[in-house]
Amino acid sequence: QATLKGTGADPYPDWKAGEPVPYAALCTTFSLIEMTTKRLIILAHCSLFLRQVLRLTPGDLLSTVQLMINKLAADYAGIELGIGESLIMKSIGESTGRSLAVIKADQHEIGDLGLVAAKSRSNQPTMFKPKPLTVRGVHDGLLAIAKVQGHGSQDKKVSGIKKLLSAADSATAGKGSKGVDITQNKGGPSEAKFIVRFLEGKLRLGLAEKTVLVALAQAVVAHEAAVKGDKAPSAEKLAEGEAILKTVYSELPSYEVIIPAILEHGLFNLRNVCKLQPGIPLKPMLAKPTKSITEVLDRFENKEFTCEYKYDGERAQIHYVAPESISQYPNAASTLQRDGAGLCAIFSRNSEDLSKKYPDILAKLSTWIKKDVQSFVLDCETVAWDTVNKKVLPFQQLMTRKRKDVKAEDVKVKVCVFAFDLLFLNGEPTVKKSLRQRRELLHQAFQTVEGEFQFAQYGNTNAIDEIQTLLDDSVKASCEGLMVKMLDTDESGYEPSKRSRNWLKVKKDYLAGVGDSLDLVVLGAYYGRGKRTSVYGAFLLAAYNTSTQNYETICNIGTGFSEAMLEELHKELSPITIDRPKPFYSHSTVPKDQPDVWFEPRFVWEVKTADLTLSPRYKAAADEFVGITGEGKGVSLRFPRFIKKRDDKKPEEATTTRAVAEMYRKQEAVAKENAGKGGVD
Ligand code: ATP
Repeated sequence: QATLKGTGADPYPDWKAGEPVPYAALCTTFSLIEMTTKRLIILAHCSLFLRQVLRLTPGDLLSTVQLMINKLAADYAGIELGIGESLIMKSIGESTGRSLAVIKADQHEIGDLGLVAAKSRSNQPTMFKPKPLTVRGVHDGLLAIAKVQGHGSQDKKVSGIKKLLSAADSATAGKGSKGVDITQNKGGPSEAKFIVRFLEGKLRLGLAEKTVLVALAQAVVAHEAAVKGDKAPSAEKLAEGEAILKTVYSELPSYEVIIPAILEHGLFNLRNVCKLQPGIPLKPMLAKPTKSITEVLDRFENKEFTCEYKYDGERAQIHYVAPESISQYPNAASTLQRDGAGLCAIFSRNSEDLSKKYPDILAKLSTWIKKDVQSFVLDCETVAWDTVNKKVLPFQQLMTRKRKDVKAEDVKVKVCVFAFDLLFLNGEPTVKKSLRQRRELLHQAFQTVEGEFQFAQYGNTNAIDEIQTLLDDSVKASCEGLMVKMLDTDESGYEPSKRSRNWLKVKKDYLAGVGDSLDLVVLGAYYGRGKRTSVYGAFLLAAYNTSTQNYETICNIGTGFSEAMLEELHKELSPITIDRPKPFYSHSTVPKDQPDVWFEPRFVWEVKTADLTLSPRYKAAADEFVGITGEGKGVSLRFPRFIKKRDDKKPEEATTTRAVAEMYRKQEAVAKENAGKGGVD
């Protein structure tokens, strides 16, 4: 049996088989991961630890994985910690007997509350020894904090955090932290540090969720082989296990369901027992941007494809189980809501439950299904609907709807559901079928109810002038353009959570050079001038680097905002100001480039740009252009214009710095090509 460090010695002599996983053991692994940036080494640490959990305490595998991915539950459960910096500082102060002023000063100097907590802890004399923390105990403690609601909830959250922090590091307490410089992020496996970072939603380990998934597959394959007495699994076997887990997870993104199934049935049987099902939303398939119809024709040459209208509303995944089928879907009972017609729910592209936003849609659901439909998962777009003129309204109308606790009878902005895909029907996932077959099933199982439920308009053609006509018609019908999709062949299956080349979006207003708009995170703001002094007049935006998990600045923006919008943004952003940039913000340090205020990374905005350039003032994708541009120049947007807020996207879902680099390279390639042709205007 391999031990964690491969030294032959057991690194956790206190962790006996069958006993809860010590939280200290997980933190040791975290700190080993923290010391490297090499993905394969991170993967190895992670999978060795999970294997140890499988061997000694398999019942804790789920909570271990959840603490590794910094999530207490699957996205659809809607569990958010919702804890700001000030609450954490208060808790650290109160649990360690240090004043808030001292904690703030430390935070100002160190810039990582996790390290501040670790430092506070190591200064604390040990009066008594609380029971050591366990992985499950920390998970449950954090979950209890997340679930606190209502009157006095802040105080209750603080007391929950204090409880965890007081018990943190009890095994090592009193031993001091000799020889370690905590401010250099080498504080060792401090439990307080990782609890605080979890609360902040950033473990800062460079440990991507995908890596944990692969590590889990490897750990299980190795463990299952060891149990059978086989020798170490081959690379092929590991790859097979990985592929199984990836596919299953993409169709059923819920460790709560998958991990117990692995423990009961084994990884190699997983596909038979864990299938896409109503009640567990999957991440939607996404499209690649294109610049022109000719690019579409190049990509889909000689293949059958279809051009659907691209409706401008909100993605909606609708799940349904008829009353008589409920017993077949035990998971659906807790995630779908019951109404007269069975169980149903609407999920956003982030798997957030939107049922309370759209009760009017759910109330009508039974009118669109045909008689023999027992269960389904639909992929749709909800769009604001003009009931007088019977047509689609612009996206802005939809945004005026309340997000929560909507009463069907109070709804002013009516919505129509435009269905474009069917992922599950009557007990069977349909994602592996071709789009042509899925569309046929969709039309067989549902019926149009004008203004309430309609099928996405489409035309199957590969003639360029017909596509152009469809594009023009879609725009006349208040749509954003076309979604062009592969229709037959294996390539036309539904690929959950993938941005696939088999779906291409063609938007009406693409600017030359840059194919798509960008979704960027607001990091800072500048006070306005003249009429705008009481609000922010311009903002600092950033793209997201998925490898380093940093936000890298990309532009200042002050165009595209109405006065009313600026007021609204001021109200929304003021409460999330912070007194200095987060350490994971990558920005210019030149004093004149600094914004007047910094924000927590929370809001995502869609922005258009005329083109891209390289500038020392911004840092987006700077590491990709080091050799070419000299140190420190990032991609920046020229003439950026605000389009809309993207409340349906989380900061981690912002446009990636890799995509930004790709856009820049593409633009440069086109420019070169044009220059080669003797210049085109
Ligand atoms: P993405 O979803 O690709 O990250 P985005 O959120 O900025 O990008 P768009 O570029 O506007 O969205 O286009 C994709 C979105 O278009 C889908 O997520 C979906 O909500 C919407 N949509 C509208 N009509 C369709 C359709 N017929 N097929 C697929 N998606 C559609």
